[in-house]
Amino acid sequence: MSAYDPQNIFAKILRGEIPCHKICEDDYTLAFMDIMPQTEGHSLVLPKTGSRNLLDADPKVFTPLMTTVQRIALASQKAFNADGILIMQFNEPAAGQTVFHLHVHVIPRKQGVTLKSHGRETADHAVLAKYAEMIRAELQ
Ligand code: AMP
Repeated sequence: MSAYDPQNIFAKILRGEIPCHKICEDDYTLAFMDIMPQTEGHSLVLPKTGSRNLLDADPKVFTPLMTTVQRIALASQKAFNADGILIMQFNEPAAGQTVFHLHVHVIPRKQGVTLKSHGRETADHAVLAKYAEMIRAELQ
């Protein structure tokens, strides 16, 4: 497995070098909208500590990471009136990973609504900004 590359796009977002539609941030995690969403409200949660993925992560990151994932999942469920929440996380290209900073996908699902393809179609930025605000409004 390759080493962690601090020039990956999520590391740049974490350093504020590239913008994102932020939902929330704490000392350990950042949550923002996925720019190529698979459903309305698809977001990502990352630990601030750099690792390529789950396989090389310091286990200490998992408690704050999953705590934020749960907060975002609950808020997204309310914001989008979702029937379910899909949590996805990919490790290495063979498993579908395309950005090599550990992240968890939080995807609101509605019964009967098909998931769009992974990382294909960029969403409208105004819509993503609105969705980030809708999730933020439901955060506990
Ligand atoms: P993966 O590494 O396969 O788990 O997926 C990476 C995800 O990051 C994909 O769903 C992309 O749509 C998303 N993505 C890539 N670049 C950006 C970006 N600049 N801002 C937000 N999401 C991104």
